[in-house]
Amino acid sequence: MPLTLDVITPERTVLSEEVDFVSARALEGELGVLPGHAPLFTSLRSDVVVARKGADEMVLAVMGGFLEVAPGRVTVLTPAAERAEDIDKLRAEEARKRAELEIDRTRTTEGEAALARALIRLRAVEVLGGRRLKLRPQA
Ligand code: ATP
Repeated sequence: MPLTLDVITPERTVLSEEVDFVSARALEGELGVLPGHAPLFTSLRSDVVVARKGADEMVLAVMGGFLEVAPGRVTVLTPAAERAEDIDKLRAEEARKRAELEIDRTRTTEGEAALARALIRLRAVEVLGGRRLKLRPQA
């Protein structure tokens, strides 16, 4: 049975692909979805989401939101998400520095949230890099 993963933000559809497996971090813990998974609706933690299709892996930074499993379909609705290869690493590093300064100055929760987003983006870039190295150790 095929499984389609859609990752949707208020701005755009970040991903709409047939996949074999999706792994994400729900509020209750790690979630792995294979075709035929029981229907489910849950909140997501902000984290890296990985989807696999054959030998291909898709790595995404997902900033919380909701995940629904329906027959043949996984839908992620989230305020912001990017595929790791589309992440501007420099921008995320700048955002991290800005957020750290903001936390030092004001200790607001906005600073904490901005720092969390930047760190997840940087982690997604790292995970993608690590997977590519593993797949092509000679490269
Ligand atoms: P910044 O301070 O760099 O704008 P942010 O955390 O405030 O980061 P968001 O409000 O989460 O940014 O996202 C705004 C838009 O910019 C979204 O469409 C998001 O996908 C995109 N975006 C944010 N940071 C990056 C990045 N480092 N690389 C690519 N796209 C990004």
